[in-house]
Amino acid sequence: MSRSAHPAGPRHADVLPEGHYSAPAADLNELDPKVWAQTVGRDADGVVTVGGVDVKTLAEQHGTPAYVLDEDDFRERARAWRTAFGHDADVFYAGKAFLSRAVVRWLHEEGLNLDVCSGGELATALSAGMPADRIAFHGNNKSVSEITRAIDAGVGRIVLDSFQEIVRVAHIAQSLGKRQRVQIRITVGVEAHTHEFIATAHEDQKFGIPLAGGQAAEAVRRALQLDGLEVIGIHSHIGSQIFDMSGFEVAAHRVVGLLKDIRDEHGVELPEIDLGGGLGIAYTSDDDPREPHEIAKALTEIVTRECDSAKLRTPRISVEPGRAIVGPTAFTLYEVGTIKPLDGLRTYVSVDGGMSDNIRTALYDAEYSVALVSRTSDAEPMLARVVGKHCESGDIVVKDAFLPGDLAPGDLIAVPATGAYCRSMASNYNHVLRPPVVAVKDGESRVIVRRETEEDLLRLDVG
Ligand SMILES: *Cc1c(COP(=O)(O)O)cnc(C)c1O
Repeated sequence: MSRSAHPAGPRHADVLPEGHYSAPAADLNELDPKVWAQTVGRDADGVVTVGGVDVKTLAEQHGTPAYVLDEDDFRERARAWRTAFGHDADVFYAGKAFLSRAVVRWLHEEGLNLDVCSGGELATALSAGMPADRIAFHGNNKSVSEITRAIDAGVGRIVLDSFQEIVRVAHIAQSLGKRQRVQIRITVGVEAHTHEFIATAHEDQKFGIPLAGGQAAEAVRRALQLDGLEVIGIHSHIGSQIFDMSGFEVAAHRVVGLLKDIRDEHGVELPEIDLGGGLGIAYTSDDDPREPHEIAKALTEIVTRECDSAKLRTPRISVEPGRAIVGPTAFTLYEVGTIKPLDGLRTYVSVDGGMSDNIRTALYDAEYSVALVSRTSDAEPMLARVVGKHCESGDIVVKDAFLPGDLAPGDLIAVPATGAYCRSMASNYNHVLRPPVVAVKDGESRVIVRRETEEDLLRLDVG
């Protein structure tokens, strides 16, 4: 690729460097509804609004960076999943995507259940009033104290992840005089990520008990013998950011095969099957996620068909969407700082956050979109890389995206679809303070997780 001598950095398609990005949108001021929360739009002055509040007001009241979450959108997505699966199925929101007490209350009100995978997530769920019997406890290395607290609280299910844990949970339940409802998590040899899935050789990972070699069948055999356990079903989670349902098809086929073997060997038909989460969302306009009702219809048909051919009663299905509910509901609002055009390459746009509030780009090479939100612009598109303020060259928020060429320090830009795995994975790297989560609804904004302060940081540093 030839280098351009353009004084303000690359501006035109014929001088763009190589990279994984699409051509600039015809109008950079347009906000693709696929990647932005439902109530996002621009007001008469061109300022972006969400939930009836404009981003300049949000920045003034709450500072930047901030995660801005559209409460109506969250509730609608939660409700859409609930409605799509109906009363013969359960929807467990995966708390690890983003968990706060407000979110727990919304989920409770909308009739969803909740997955947790640590003592901290369990404490958050219980303190916000989620009934324990609607909580599922996950994890590949639950501690004895976590298991004890979960059983003591009366969680609806613990998802067992290893042979050791089968014995450990049974023992703790018995010592508490309880019989704990459990599912056994198996790996079916399917791994799905975005548009692809691979149907062999992906049992080489830390989660679950492999179906291969009869290990899953052996786990069920042992669990069924233990008085402290009530085995209610089999669990399978095949990956993340999945668009293609064929991975679930193979997984359901294999899980139902195990249910049939269990029926043949033990004379029991386990009443539940959990197909996990991992459903994809649109991070950029190139992504085309499915609607919850399409997913529900596809999964229900697959399981029903497999059970019919195995002559099994169709078990109760549960699913565990995290990203698909919360991901699209929030964007991260940043203020633009230093702008550095690199001739023939791209323009580096620094923001007041970075890998501490969004690690996904550095960790997974995730793709995001970005837009100027404090005003509109008719300037030529420039190829930009949005970077943070951390002492790390991998501190990239948006790898390649087009922003208006007249972008200036003090402008507000926003990165959409940051509701999942951003605040929940946020760090204090460089002692940067973690941003607040601000919920907006009906023209009002409300802090649901406050910004960290230097006092918070120093409180942990006990000298
Ligand atoms: C992470 C996880 C989920 C949620 O995944 P999403 O991609 O957020 O839908 C669901 N179930 C299990 C067991 C998980 O580990």
